[in-house]
Amino acid sequence: MRTIGLSANGRVVGEHHPRAKLTFAKVEEMRHLRNEHGLTFKALGEHFGVSGRTAWQIVRGKTWAVEVVATKQQATEQDKARVLELRAQRLGPASIARAMGVTRHSVSRLTTGIPRPPKTHCKHGHPLSGDNLLIRHDGYRECKQCRSAGSRAAYERRKAARLAGEGTLRTVAINDAGLRIGEDHQNAKYTNGEIEMVLSLRDEGKSYGEIGRLVEMPKSTVRDIIKGRRRCQYPADFKTIKE
Ligand SMILES: [Zn+2]
Repeated sequence: MRTIGLSANGRVVGEHHPRAKLTFAKVEEMRHLRNEHGLTFKALGEHFGVSGRTAWQIVRGKTWAVEVVATKQQATEQDKARVLELRAQRLGPASIARAMGVTRHSVSRLTTGIPRPPKTHCKHGHPLSGDNLLIRHDGYRECKQCRSAGSRAAYERRKAARLAGEGTLRTVAINDAGLRIGEDHQNAKYTNGEIEMVLSLRDEGKSYGEIGRLVEMPKSTVRDIIKGRRRCQYPADFKTIKE
């Protein structure tokens, strides 16, 4: 990082200006040579590689006269190279900033739009390649070993909870295939009582729409229940589950 001088209106001034031909030190020396030793402007120009007119402007304070009132840090080519090098090592902006002793903001100014290279290993050090690499539907890359370890851990937790006697017992209706039916089904929205209500309102001659309004159910659901497309199974058996 190098320090850049700024004028009161925030402009880069003096030797920090990208097109500056001189430095603050040279300007000071030029003024000294003129004021203390009486060199001509022509001689000054020749000595510093500028025109006599430029030398005159500088000495008279027509140019190189803006006061530096603030500074800012600017990244050098070396800084940029270092940031990209750390980036290639998969360091995040915070770690790069810490390693270089600069702000996170300066790091992101240099890395915006440059993707971090993909991980080669998971956080547990398993390779993210070959047989161990799992690419999910959403494109996310996962470690197969860690994933199955995770599933196993979840299974063990459920098992431990079961053995510890957590959860309550409940008797549910099941069909021939052993699947839960009616209001006992995992996704059931309506109680068996509501289904009975639909059927008896239909027996009274009410329309699908009227029944739907009374039971607060979409008309299509009322129709499916009455036509026997939904909630039409009879329990083949019952089983006790823990939940
Ligand atoms: Zn892993």
